[in-house]
Amino acid sequence: MSPPAPIPEIPFYLPVGNECRLFELAFAHRLPLLLKGPTGCGKTRFVAHMAARVGRPLYTVSCHDDLTAADLTGRYLLKGGDTVWTDGPLTAAVRQGGIAYLDEVVEARKDVTVVLHPLTDDRRLLPLDRTGELLQAPDDFMLVVSYNPGYQNVLKQLKPSTRQRFVAIEFDFPPAEVERKVVVAETGLDEGRAHSLVMLAGRLRSLKGHDLEEGVSTRLLVYCATLVQAGMNLREAVQAAMIEPLTDDADVKKGLDEVVLAVF
Ligand code: ADP
Repeated sequence: MSPPAPIPEIPFYLPVGNECRLFELAFAHRLPLLLKGPTGCGKTRFVAHMAARVGRPLYTVSCHDDLTAADLTGRYLLKGGDTVWTDGPLTAAVRQGGIAYLDEVVEARKDVTVVLHPLTDDRRLLPLDRTGELLQAPDDFMLVVSYNPGYQNVLKQLKPSTRQRFVAIEFDFPPAEVERKVVVAETGLDEGRAHSLVMLAGRLRSLKGHDLEEGVSTRLLVYCATLVQAGMNLREAVQAAMIEPLTDDADVKKGLDEVVLAVF
C-alpha cells in the first residue's frame, strides 16, 4: 500500500454552500459522510481541502468493480520468505486516525459493505478477520464515500441500508459565478474568457439527458481553460476538452458544435 499523502498546504476549494461547515461538524461528531454528485464537480478536491483543514492525513481509494474488502482492510504478503500482515488504506486510517475517502463506492464488490457497516454505526468498529483484531476507530477517524447517482445502473445503486448510515451532501457543478472563479484560480485565464467558457458549459449541460449521459464537468472546463491559457485557440481547446470527451456519436458532436458556434 502506498503511504498516505503528507498533509499538504490546504488545497484550493471554493465553497458553494454550507459543505465546509457540515464536514467540520461531521468530523467533530464522528459522523460518516456521503457525497453525491456527477463526476468532476469538486468532490475529491473538497475532501482534500477539508482533510488538510482538520489536519488529518487523507487515504483516498478509487473504487472499481474488482475492489474487494481485503483491498481496503489489508492482507498477508510474502516478504523475504515470511508472510507479513500489511494494512490496507482503510485499516491504516482507522489505526492512525485520518480521513478514509472511498471514491465511487458503488463500484466496489459487495463484501466492502460488510466492512463498512460496523464502522458507520455508533460502534465504529473494524473487524479484521484475518488477524483476529477488532479495531475501535479513534475520534479523529472519519469515513467519507462518494458516488454518482446519475449513472443509470440499477445494479449499482447504494442500498438504503448502507446510505442511511451517512450524513449526505449533494454536489452539482458550481453556480456560474463560483465556477468562473474556480477556472480563473486554477488556470490563471482572464475573467472574460473564463466567463465565456462557463457560459458555454452551461449551454452544453442543458443538453444532458437528450443526447448526453453526463454534462461537461468542471474538470473538463478547467482542462479547456488550461489549454487556452497555454496559447491554444479557443475553438480548438473547446473541441478537445469539452466536446470530444463527451461523446463518440457524430450527430451528437454536430449538435454540440452548433451550441459552440452560437456562443462564440
Ligand atoms: P470529482 O471528485 O467530483 O470527480 P474533482 O474534485 O476531481 O471532481 O474536481 C475536478 C476539478 O474541478 C478539480 O481538480 C478542480 O480543479 C475543480 N473544482 C471543481 N469544483 C471546485 C471548487 N468548488 N473549488 C475549487 N476547485 C474546484
